[in-house]
Amino acid sequence: MGMLTQKEEISPVTDSDQSTGSRCRFCSALLKHTLVDLGMSPLCESYVSAERQNQMEPFYPLRVFVCERCFLAQLDEFVSPQEIFTEYAYFSSYADSWVEHARQYAEMMIERFRLNGQSHVVEIASNDGYLLQHFVAKNIRSTGIEPAANVAKVAEQKGVPTIVEFFGEEFAHKLAADGQQADVIAANNVLAQVPGLNDFVGGFKALLCTGGVVTIEFPHLMRLMEGNQFDTIYHEHFSYFSFITAARIMSAHGLRIFDVDEIPTHGGSLRLYCCHDEDESKPTTARAIELQKREEAAGFASMDTYRNFAEQVKETKRKILKFLITAKEDGKTVVGYGAPGKGNTLLNYCGIRTDFIGYTVDRNPYKQGKFLPGTRIPILCPEKIAETKPDYLFILPWNFKDEVMKQCSYIKEWGGKFVVPIPEVRIYE
Ligand SMILES: [Zn+2]
Repeated sequence: MGMLTQKEEISPVTDSDQSTGSRCRFCSALLKHTLVDLGMSPLCESYVSAERQNQMEPFYPLRVFVCERCFLAQLDEFVSPQEIFTEYAYFSSYADSWVEHARQYAEMMIERFRLNGQSHVVEIASNDGYLLQHFVAKNIRSTGIEPAANVAKVAEQKGVPTIVEFFGEEFAHKLAADGQQADVIAANNVLAQVPGLNDFVGGFKALLCTGGVVTIEFPHLMRLMEGNQFDTIYHEHFSYFSFITAARIMSAHGLRIFDVDEIPTHGGSLRLYCCHDEDESKPTTARAIELQKREEAAGFASMDTYRNFAEQVKETKRKILKFLITAKEDGKTVVGYGAPGKGNTLLNYCGIRTDFIGYTVDRNPYKQGKFLPGTRIPILCPEKIAETKPDYLFILPWNFKDEVMKQCSYIKEWGGKFVVPIPEVRIYE
């Protein structure tokens, strides 16, 4: 029955076309189809300090291709992972919801796969130990692999043994030869950010012990496209996976997806559970088979589905601009809430600057006083909202809209309204 069971080979490049265009990160086919072109955009996490205000910023093309052979949606690599990860500013433990997500994951894994003192858990891109600390607390041997030395140091201080290294096949073989094979490998929100996809997944195969489980979380391409979440496309995210394509990639490396959870993080993500191909103790669940069928029925194994997305995104842009133009013509004031990476993709693509949105606010003191990359919209503290009483609060982190509307319900005192841009512009009174 299709791709869940059939062994997929990475076919050698056979195109007679000698064009020097980009090739698929997974199957090496020439990339001919644009899924969506978001134009030129700066790196979405490069906030501009007041001192750098008179300097230029690098912009890179933000164009997503889709491979007609394996349907992997992908960006060219303009930014090296070294640039992104070696001094990473994001500490997972600063986000309460992440720590809770990690705790629940650890409990579930310990129970479901009966982990104990003999088990070994390895997390790839282990950040500051936000996840492994929960295994360490249960006396389960844990190893973090994290390329950013500054965050790895914080993990060590928490008692989470951490190796500062980029993960790949060669390193995985070295660990395995060293008796460090893993019963559980966790790779959460890292697969999308890996340029050498085959080398990385090959590393899972090498590091996983017989009977072991790899869990992998990433934003679900089907949810991105159906929910119009084009703003979750960033330069730092090289790949965007459907379940169908992820199953092909695992299969090419001798791994099999035997189960899947659909989870709400990042606007809708998948958590895959993979094992060695030949592991008969883990039959493929009905849930995994159902999702594969659902994606096939929705057309994710056919190019036509991918051809419609670009127009849908352009229409969303026009609707957002229509709202802003009308608000401005009516003499209304609009300010932003939040300064997330996704907000920067949306604002740059739509060409929204201080002519439409006077300022935005963020609770993170690291961002306050800085400017959004590209659009140079100032980031202020949240108290500014009550001071200036805007007519509209434009919520950039729409995935937290309920939380934001609760926190800022006081804007109703002066008749203020909330605007949520995605999946399409909606006003909440
Ligand atoms: Zn491909």
